[in-house]
Amino acid sequence: MKNVLVVEDEADIRELICHHLKKEGFRVLDVADAETAYAEVQKRLPDAIVLDLMLPGMQGLELCRILRSKDRTARVPILILTAKEEEIDKLIGFEMGADDYITKPFSPRELIARLRAVLRRAGEAPSPEQRPPYETDSLYLNFATYEVRTRNKPVDLSPIEFRLLRHLVTHPEIVFSRDQLLDSVWGRDTYVMPRTVDVHVQKLRSLIEEDPRNPKMILTVRGAGYKFQPNVK
Ligand code: CA
Repeated sequence: MKNVLVVEDEADIRELICHHLKKEGFRVLDVADAETAYAEVQKRLPDAIVLDLMLPGMQGLELCRILRSKDRTARVPILILTAKEEEIDKLIGFEMGADDYITKPFSPRELIARLRAVLRRAGEAPSPEQRPPYETDSLYLNFATYEVRTRNKPVDLSPIEFRLLRHLVTHPEIVFSRDQLLDSVWGRDTYVMPRTVDVHVQKLRSLIEEDPRNPKMILTVRGAGYKFQPNVK
């Protein structure tokens, strides 16, 4: 049974989350502020944390940053709850180390799906963060710091774009269908249309390819899906 720490100051939302998590078989500990959450994490490391951003006292992102900065807590999956979608990339990116986020209002099913996805990714071994950076003339990708550069220019990727690129780069020359990419990158239970994959691939190409219309790294395999071509000069 997985232990989940829920950090949310609004009692009705907290109770709703706890109710659904328990129903799905999680063991839940809930707290209303980041300071208490931090103290609980010191006592016992949860398997995952559902963390609201706007809290009284210490903010969710600050807690996230602190947990990531310490060896013992650096790898706990964190699912952020936020009402501020437009700021999320800027706020979190991967700098603060959140694994995923969900925007209020959310459905309980979506919450459970995202939580399962972060838990599953956390359980995948070996951890991609332990890999040495991927480096060619055209692309540099650091799995530990999430730094991405192309032709020596830094590239600013959203969390999902980073995960998609990471998945492709770590499985070079393997053709993935849209459904397979949805499974591996978005998570099995999320409600995303396969076309979403195409949109994100196009976005990634526009960010990392020299000529996005004539991609050399992320290739389309007609009728099958996408693959990453590693040996690009
Ligand atoms: Ca709040």
